Order: sequence, then structure tokens, then C-alpha cells
Amino acid sequence: MKITGDLQLMKKINKYLVLDTIRHHYPISRADISVKTGLNKTTVSSLVTELIESHFVTEIGLGESSGGRKPMMLLFNQRAGYAIGVDLGVNYILAMVTDLGGTVVKEKRIEMTDWSVETVTEKLKKCIHSLIKKTPSSPYGIIGIGVGVPGLVDDQGNVLSAPNLGWTDVPLQEMLEREFDLPIAIDNEANVGALGEKEFGAGRSVSNMIYLSVGIGIGAGIILNDALYRGVSGFSGEVGHMTLAQDGPLCGCGSRGCWETFASEKALIHQAKSLQLVDEKIQVAEAIDKINLNTLLSLAKRGHRPVIDLFASTGHWLGVGITNLVNVFNPELIVIGNRMSLASEWIADSICETLNSHSLSFHRQKMNVVYAKLGMNSSAAGAASIAINRFFSAMKALSD
Ligand SMILES: [Zn+2]
Repeated sequence: MKITGDLQLMKKINKYLVLDTIRHHYPISRADISVKTGLNKTTVSSLVTELIESHFVTEIGLGESSGGRKPMMLLFNQRAGYAIGVDLGVNYILAMVTDLGGTVVKEKRIEMTDWSVETVTEKLKKCIHSLIKKTPSSPYGIIGIGVGVPGLVDDQGNVLSAPNLGWTDVPLQEMLEREFDLPIAIDNEANVGALGEKEFGAGRSVSNMIYLSVGIGIGAGIILNDALYRGVSGFSGEVGHMTLAQDGPLCGCGSRGCWETFASEKALIHQAKSLQLVDEKIQVAEAIDKINLNTLLSLAKRGHRPVIDLFASTGHWLGVGITNLVNVFNPELIVIGNRMSLASEWIADSICETLNSHSLSFHRQKMNVVYAKLGMNSSAAGAASIAINRFFSAMKALSD
């Protein structure tokens, strides 16, 4: 009967609303949930009882009174289940188990040199299996797997193009669904990085922010009015391919002078090699091919002037692109994440100088530039958060 169906659906939506409020505001009393949701106290109490029975909520004890009887405070039970989040980087796989509140319980990192689809997917599957084995037992077990990929991903979880991996048309979601009997979510790594920082990191109290993933390439996850902006096909945020100089260096996308040919880790290493860097600890002839970001960071730490200047130049070019984004989007926060955030000490000043001299002054007034609070974990944590949010959103569906 339709009316019964409507009532059941309404109850599920209300229950989701109560749980969502507890997840984001705990410790919280039943009375405060009623105020925040607009649901009456009787409804809140009966839904809370059901949520306690289903292990999502626990009572912690009496809280502060605002006049009358001290209220019983409620907690979200983060350990009711676990999610797996994976950051498929260009030269590494970082996979983690988080609880339902995003706290990392286990993690595993694998360095990659072979990016073929077969090798990467085999290592990825092995890595996830080993994490599943190490996950503590819980009422709901592992509720899903999220994977962030450095490329364009469609809504079926197909990786349409990942130039820095050399991948085209890889049905990654389907491949993982065949291996694991769990819900799988695949998304662009900058999008999941933005969600990670928004949900658990630097952007928790911010509604309009841009997360910049600066690694081998550059991508952005754009959060507008608290939601990820995906564009019509889910391909938004390819800021690394903004044209900064139409006759500039050739980019992996086939165009010239893209932002990432000036300001990414790949560009930095390329420039370092062409500088013919000489250091007393590096024999140029044999080491020139082995220069990587870690080499450059340790040279900068030792005060190597040409390397410090190189980081400053990268910071300048980052500032140029960020200026364009700030002028267009008027965000509250720019979060710089992924590997280039490790160089914050040497790029921060030149980013700020460029922004201060080039961006529109009105846009700068309420805007901050920070580095990822979750460090290298932003994308993996964000991938886990997609799995977690899908798990809870499914509570709103009518069928059980
Ligand atoms: Zn490009």
C-alpha cells in the first residue's frame, strides 16, 4: 500500500537524519538532536533507541545541564564497521582501513615502478586482501572500498584516461567487484583528496574550498557550498591542463604550456635534471636519472642554493595557477596536498608573493592557503569516506 510505503520511507529518512546529526556533532543529547533536525523529541528518542540496538550509537553518560535534569549524551560508534580507502598514485599505492569516523586503523604503502594495468591491479587486489585480513571484527565488517585514481573516471567506475599511468578505458570498478563481494567506488584522486580534507582535515569548517593535488600532475577537487563540484560528466578539476603559455613545454595531454608543465613534481624534476645539479654527495653522471623529489628535499634541507631557488620557482608557478583559481572561484580555502606539500617550507613564500601581487585584492580578503592536514593520506581517507557515505546513504533507500 502506498501510504505504508511513504511512512516507511519517511521513517528511514528521519533515521538517517538523526544518525547523520550524531555522526557530525557527537557527543550530543537527544534534545539537541531534536533542535538540529526539527524532529519532535518522541520521534528522536524512538529512532535513537533503534540506532543503539543496531550498534551505530552508544550512550556515554550524563552531560552538562542547561537548567533541568542532566541529559544522557550519545556517541557515534565509529567502530561499528570499517572501510577501505586506496590512493592509486603515479608511483605508489597507499591503502588504508579506516573506521566509520575516518580514523586510520591499518595502512599499507607499495612503491610502484611498473604501471601496467595487470601489475597495478594485481598488487592492488593483494594489498586490499591483506588489509581485509588485518581488520578487527565489528558488527558490520567492511562496508565498502573506495579508490582514488589519477585520471578521468566515469560514473560506472571506468578509468577513461590516466595519462600519467598510461591507462585508457580500464574497467577498474568491474575488475574489483569481481574480486571482492563489496560495494566499490572509484573516483578521481583530487576529488577524493578534497573530500578527505573536507570530511576529516583542513576543510572541516569551510563550505567553499579547492583542494590541489600537486604530484606528478596537478588536479583539483572543487568543493562549492559543501558539495563536490563534478561538472556535467564528472570531469571537473583538470586544472593541471590550464594553458599558462601557449608555446610552452609539451604536456602529456598533447597540448603545450599547461600548468603542470611548470609547477608539478614532474616539471620540478625535469628542471632539476636540466640544471645539471652538482652536489658533493651526488655524482652527476650516474645520479642525474635518479633525482627525485626526496633527493631535492634533502638537498634543500642542506641549504643547496640552486635547489632552493628551483623550489621557489615552482612555488611561483603554483602561485600563478592558484591566482587564476582564486579569481574565478572566490574560495575560502586553498588546500595544497599530495607530494609537493612536503616542500611547503620552500614553496610557501613564493606562492604567497605571487598571489599577493597577482590575485584580485577583494578575493584575497577571506582566503587562506594551507597544506593538507592529512598529509599524504588525504586521498586514501577521502576514498574511504566515499564508501562510508554511500553505506549510510543506502539507509535512506526503501528496500531493506
Ligand atoms: Zn596538459
